[in-house]
Amino acid sequence: TALTEDVSFIGSIDQGTTSTRFLIFNKDGEPVASHQIDINQIYPEPGWHEHDPVEIIESINTCIDGALKTFEQQGHSVKAIKAVGIANQRETTVVWDQKTGESLYNAIVWTDTRTQTLVRKLKDRLGADKLLDLCGLPLSTYPSVGKLLWLIDNEPKVAEAYEQGRLAFGTIDSWVVYKLNGGPKKNVFVTDPTNASRTMFMNIHTLQYDPRLLDFFRLNMSKLSLPKIVRSSHPTAFGSLVTGILSGVPIAGCLGDQSAALVGQKGFTPGRAKNTYGTGCFLLYNVGGKPVISTNGLLTTVAYDFDGNPQYALEGSIAVAGSSVKFLQTNFGFIESSAQISALAATVPDNGGCTFVTAFSGLFAPYWIDDARGTIFGITAFTQKGHIARATLEATCFQTKAILDSMQKDSGHALAELAVDGGMTNSDLCMQMQADLIGMPVERPKMVETTALGAAIAAGFAVGLWESFEQLKEVNTAGVTTFTPKITTEEKDKRFGRWQKAVDMCRGWAQ
Ligand code: ADP
Repeated sequence: TALTEDVSFIGSIDQGTTSTRFLIFNKDGEPVASHQIDINQIYPEPGWHEHDPVEIIESINTCIDGALKTFEQQGHSVKAIKAVGIANQRETTVVWDQKTGESLYNAIVWTDTRTQTLVRKLKDRLGADKLLDLCGLPLSTYPSVGKLLWLIDNEPKVAEAYEQGRLAFGTIDSWVVYKLNGGPKKNVFVTDPTNASRTMFMNIHTLQYDPRLLDFFRLNMSKLSLPKIVRSSHPTAFGSLVTGILSGVPIAGCLGDQSAALVGQKGFTPGRAKNTYGTGCFLLYNVGGKPVISTNGLLTTVAYDFDGNPQYALEGSIAVAGSSVKFLQTNFGFIESSAQISALAATVPDNGGCTFVTAFSGLFAPYWIDDARGTIFGITAFTQKGHIARATLEATCFQTKAILDSMQKDSGHALAELAVDGGMTNSDLCMQMQADLIGMPVERPKMVETTALGAAIAAGFAVGLWESFEQLKEVNTAGVTTFTPKITTEEKDKRFGRWQKAVDMCRGWAQ
C-alpha cells in the first residue's frame, strides 16, 4: 500500500489505573492502531496503593512502539501523526527532585487510604468548612493534597527535598509531560485545569492555585514547585516528545481521564452526561461555563478548557467498580477473567437477597464515608457464587443511581439518558441492571475507547485537525447499543431502599 502522508492522525496516550494504552485516531475519530499493557499494582500495606513512576513512563514508550508498528504495517507513515494527546488517571501523586528529575517515592494512587487519620484531623482545622466553595472538592482521602502532605511528613527523602526547595509535585499528566520532554533539561512543568482541579490547591473559579488553600494545608510555596496550569488544548505549552520514533511530535492536549471521556462522548453541551465504568466509576455531567457547587455530595470539576472558556461538570465518583469484578477473580477465585462475571451472574435469576456494599476504600459520592468497609449482607445457606456476582455488579449500579439523584437535586434537571463506557460496560447484564435501577435508557457506543478519543480531540483541536464541535458530530455514532429499563418503578424503589439501608449499616467499621 502507498504511504498516506497527506492524511493526518492523532496519537493518544491513555495512562489509566490498571493499564497504559496508546491509540492512533484518524480524522473520523476511529482508532486505526493501538497497544495496551498492564501496570503493576503495588499494595505495600492494607489500604495503600502505589505505582512505579518509572514503569509508567516505560509503559508509555512500549505502547507507542507497539501501536506504531501496526500503524506502519498498515502502510501509514509516522509523519502523518500531527500531535499527541494525554488522558491520565487523576489525583495520583508523584513527587520528584527538580534538579535530577528522579522520582522520590512511588506514585500514590487515587484509591489509597493511608491519609485517613490525616484527613480526619484536617476536617477539624479552622477553615475546613470553606474548602468546598473554593476548590469544589470535599476533604477526603481522594484528592492529591493529602497524599503530598503524607509524603512530606513520612518520607525523609521527600522532606529533605522540600526543606531544600527541590521538591516538585505533579499529578500523572505533569510527570508524563515532564519526562516525555526529557526531564530537567527542558523542564516542561505544566498541568491542565481538569487535573489541577483534583489537587485541592486550585481555585475552581479562577483556575489558579489559591494561597488560601495552600495556607490551609500549610504548604510553603518557597519550598515546593507546582506545575503551571495551562489550557487542556494547546499547540506548544506541553512541549514535544524528545525520544523514540515520535521524537519532535508536539504534545498538544491533556485531560484527566474522566474529563477526556466526557469529551470523547461529545458531552459539549450543558445537560450531557457520561458514566465511565473502569477501575472506579465516574459520572460527569456538563453544567456549562459556571461551576455549580454541590450541596448533595458531588464534586465540582473542570470538564475541559480548550479556548480560555472553561466548561465545568458536576461529578459523582465511585471508588470501586471494575475493581470489584477483579476482586472476585483474584481474591476469591470465582472467575478466571473479568469477562466471565456475566456468565457467573447469569447462573441465578436474582441476587438471592444479597447486597454487597463494595466499600473497600470507604464510599465516595454521594456518601463520603471514609470509615466504611466492604460488607456483604443477606448471606444464607442458599447463597451461591452467582448471587455474590450479581450483588457485586449491582453495587456500582446502585451508587450510580444515588449519584444521579444528587445531580438532579443540584442541577434541577433530570437526565434523559446515560452515555456509558469503560471496561465494565462490556457486561450486557450489568448495563441492563443499570438501566433497570435508574429507570432510564443506557447508551453504549460501539467504540468504547472514549477516554483516548477525548485526549485525541483535545490535541486535534490544538493543531487544527478539527476546528469546531460541529465537525465531531458524526464521530462514534454508529452501532450504539441501547439498554431500556424493564422493571417497575415500585421494584426499582424497593431494591434501592435495601441498598440505602445496607450503606447505613456499614458505617464506622474502620474506626
Ligand atoms: P481503567 O481505565 O480504570 O484502567 P478499564 O476501563 O480498562 O479501566 O476497565 C477495567 C475494569 O473493567 C477492570 O476492573 C475489569 O474488572 C472490568 N471489566 C473488564 N471487562 C469486563 C467485563 N466483560 N465485565 C465486567 N467487568 C469487566
